[in-house]
Amino acid sequence: QDYLAKIRAANPAINAYVETNEDATLAEARAADALRAEGRAGPLTGVPLAHKDIFCQTGWHARCGSKMLESFAAPYDAGLIERSRAAGLVTLGRTNMDEFAMGSTNESSFYGAVRNPWNTGHVPGGSSGGSAAAIAAGLAPAASGTDTGGSIRQPAAFCGISGIKPTYGIVSRWGMIAYASSLDQGGPMARTAEDCALLLNTFAGFDERDSTSLQRPAEDYTRALAQPLAGLRIGLPKEFFGDGMADDVRAAVDAALATFRSLGAVTVDVSLPRAGMSVPAYYVIAPAEASSNLSRYDGVRYGYRAPEYGNLDDMYVKTRAQGFGAEVKRRILIGAYVLSHGYYDAYYLQAQKVRRLIAQDYEAAFAQCDLIMGPTTPNTAYRIGQNDEDPMAMYLGDIYTTSVNLAGLPGMSIPAGFGAGGLPVGLQIVGRWFDEARMLGAAHQFQ
Ligand code: GLN
Repeated sequence: QDYLAKIRAANPAINAYVETNEDATLAEARAADALRAEGRAGPLTGVPLAHKDIFCQTGWHARCGSKMLESFAAPYDAGLIERSRAAGLVTLGRTNMDEFAMGSTNESSFYGAVRNPWNTGHVPGGSSGGSAAAIAAGLAPAASGTDTGGSIRQPAAFCGISGIKPTYGIVSRWGMIAYASSLDQGGPMARTAEDCALLLNTFAGFDERDSTSLQRPAEDYTRALAQPLAGLRIGLPKEFFGDGMADDVRAAVDAALATFRSLGAVTVDVSLPRAGMSVPAYYVIAPAEASSNLSRYDGVRYGYRAPEYGNLDDMYVKTRAQGFGAEVKRRILIGAYVLSHGYYDAYYLQAQKVRRLIAQDYEAAFAQCDLIMGPTTPNTAYRIGQNDEDPMAMYLGDIYTTSVNLAGLPGMSIPAGFGAGGLPVGLQIVGRWFDEARMLGAAHQFQ
């Protein structure tokens, strides 16, 4: 009830939540009480959290930031939602996001931009900007997010919170509305790495309904939280510290690294020679997969249908013309182009080769270090409207995050102080495949 009151008071100015349902929230809270009364409570039973509006959840809409899904309410729970419910977590509401998770600012949401709680003239980042802003504004202690090219880490950085994108395949994609299936991964966002570790224990696990879900023994992601940092080798890729990083971001990241050294970690110089190709490769592969995934929104099966049309083709055309926003249309056009006959080899196939090389670069770097660190983003949060005329400028801001998705590696962002104007700066930590516990432990020692 405390959180619901805060949401009622502060959400109109932040627009982090797109749906709340106080009766449903309180019913879940009572169910959590019942679990406790039966002696079946886990560590998170009764803890409230917000869910990104991309996860199908019975009793709630799943609009994914789009007019296309304005009337859509899923008849089933996503894998991550099932696990949240079973743990007794209580849903505070559904958080705003860029349309179909395409964006870095939350401005592409059909339901309006989200404001950064640190300075409401700035964006919270995207696409999980509603989740990050809700936590930063004290309107939720934790939230789910998804990260295809940075959408957990970048809004976490812009809003001064913690968030982890797990190794691809750790968290079920069942019921998570698809953007780019080979890159999409759900994960937790919270104030601290410790909270993220507890939430990851809930979210992670095999799901046979997701064909890329990995069957692995259950692990406790909190197990390394108390591990001292002495001897930890932190790799600093020179490509992450070159031109293009704003001075205030560099100062905050350098100060964070100095703290890691003072705690006993050593830093080593490493190189990711193909890191600069990650944005071009990502912006071929992600739109290609999106153009295929979004073909299901045809006005026939579910979602929006144009009110007036001539024949079936006209219905498809008008439905998609009216139902999708500009950024989504741009991605569909790019994706259809790079997959088309004659361009497939030149763009899509090349991007897939670059993707493999980027993963190999990370493997080589991890021969010299345990974790890789650097800035999460080249700059602090953009001003609202800053990228309106120039989508390329926004894409280039994904330079440090996209390579991690292309390689399928776990990556997280934790607060590293503040830059100019009091806006938060994020430190990115990248680990080897399945090394989330070590990453969360290092982050916790720092925090
Ligand atoms: N900014 C990136 C994009 O627009 C990443 C989005 C995401 O991770 N969902 O594709």
